[in-house]
Amino acid sequence: MGRVIGIDLGTTNSCIAIVEDGQPIVIPNSGGYKTMPSMFGISQDGKRLVGHLAKRQAITNAQNTVYAAKRLIGRRFDSTEVQRSIELCPYEIVQGPHEDARIELAEKTFTCPELAGITLREMKRIAEEYLGEPVHEAVITCPAYFNDAQRQGTKDAGKIAGLEVLRIINEPTAAALAYGMARPGDQRIAVYDLGGGTFDVSILEISEGVIEVLATAGNTFLGGEDFDRRIVAHIVKGFEEAEGIDLRSDTMALQRLKDAAEKAKCDLSMREETEINLPFIASDPEGPRHLNFELDRVMLERLVDDIVQGTLKSVEQCVQDAGLRPSDVDQVVMVGGQSRMPLVQSAVSDYFGKRPHKGVNPDEVVALGAAVQGAALVEEGQDVLLLDVTPLSLGISTYGGHFARLIDRNTTVPVTKAHIFTTTRDDQSAVKIRVFQGESDLATENDLLGEFVLAGIRPARKGEPEVEVSFDIDSNGIVSVSARDLATGQEQSITVSSTSTLSDSEIDQMAADQQNYEVAFKG
Ligand code: ADP
Ligand code: MG
Repeated sequence: MGRVIGIDLGTTNSCIAIVEDGQPIVIPNSGGYKTMPSMFGISQDGKRLVGHLAKRQAITNAQNTVYAAKRLIGRRFDSTEVQRSIELCPYEIVQGPHEDARIELAEKTFTCPELAGITLREMKRIAEEYLGEPVHEAVITCPAYFNDAQRQGTKDAGKIAGLEVLRIINEPTAAALAYGMARPGDQRIAVYDLGGGTFDVSILEISEGVIEVLATAGNTFLGGEDFDRRIVAHIVKGFEEAEGIDLRSDTMALQRLKDAAEKAKCDLSMREETEINLPFIASDPEGPRHLNFELDRVMLERLVDDIVQGTLKSVEQCVQDAGLRPSDVDQVVMVGGQSRMPLVQSAVSDYFGKRPHKGVNPDEVVALGAAVQGAALVEEGQDVLLLDVTPLSLGISTYGGHFARLIDRNTTVPVTKAHIFTTTRDDQSAVKIRVFQGESDLATENDLLGEFVLAGIRPARKGEPEVEVSFDIDSNGIVSVSARDLATGQEQSITVSSTSTLSDSEIDQMAADQQNYEVAFKG
């Protein structure tokens, strides 16, 4: 039997790990890098580029280089997040046939699961090269705050990459697993995960082989990218005031600036001040213009303070949902590259009244935890019981557009809740049920997971038929629905036709398509 790899499929960077001799280790690529940019591009001469190679052309060929595609996975094209990405991204985002968001590169359209699948296939290849044997099975992580469509998209990505996804686990839970494995003993920990594109916080209880998530909260559209954008906006404004040139419509200049802004931001995690120098950023009739900008930590902190404070609101909600006070938390584990920022560290320390734990590598701990879970799923005697929760309430829309909650957020998964539905008119033979996930009392303000029609209800007076519908959330956080006519005992087969997910045949097609390119990846 092959080995199971753990993959942290990040918005910005991805990482793979495996358990060897009982210890999880990160698998480096042949160049020695332990993480890989989650980027994909098509070069000027039509070659497909993955990871570091794609990142290298991000400035010169921005419209054909995708980054942060995970921000779009499982989202509807008309959602505010997708519309915002359209404004911000140099690559083209188009509407797909399932009302999903797709990305157009060099005149070919890619779905988001397909793009994530390309990253996963490369991770699979790196693992196979390292292990010297084929890899078929994986545990893949996703942000705890991902909804059903986003999880489904992640699972599809695995299939497209030719992997059997044994489990989707939440990133903070994976981090806790890796942390807890190295430090046995009962404790309550908070995992604060601020990456490039998503933010999650979870509170967990660890004791003798059991990891139980008490609560989770977050924002799947908030991360380091937003910090970079604030810096870029600040500099663009300064440059316009000083030079009278607006850089906003110059894709190449913006891309260079974004790159430099991110470097400056990381620099300021270690130093008090830094410089951004971009020669020949623009030109006008008087000749070329250079950009020289000094940025210090105080200024950076002023630019992003509200974002950091915003994450603390989620932390507060999470602590409350766990039924705790901040001081009840024994350890705070910081995950994600952006959590290295001193302002983030101090804000979190102040909130919990204790300094974050220093012993984990924020870039690697999620993949390590995924590998631990992978090993536990296939090896006997590796008992870890993971009790995770669903991050969002699940419900249906009822008369007047109200959201009727069937499963509350932070309920332990797997969970099944059954409900009896009936008709509102005599001889009504079908009812339509719309399933949503979210916290608003107004159904349409939540995410529509899908809808289904219960048909074949036998003729009867209104209110008489009894159809029991079960809503099920599995350990991956993925929702499914089944129905039974109580009078006849007959099962009704229903599929929640999620608006943004791909059909099996589409997935197979994309997987086949990727195999065609496998040779190109290795070259
Ligand atoms: P993801 O989980 O989204 O893939 P990562 O955990 O790799 O993301 O974090 C990437 C983000 O962390 C980027 O926005 C990057 O700029 C930021 N980052 C990395 N190192 C530092 C640092 N030293 N200081 C501040 N931000 C950092
Ligand atoms: Mg991450």
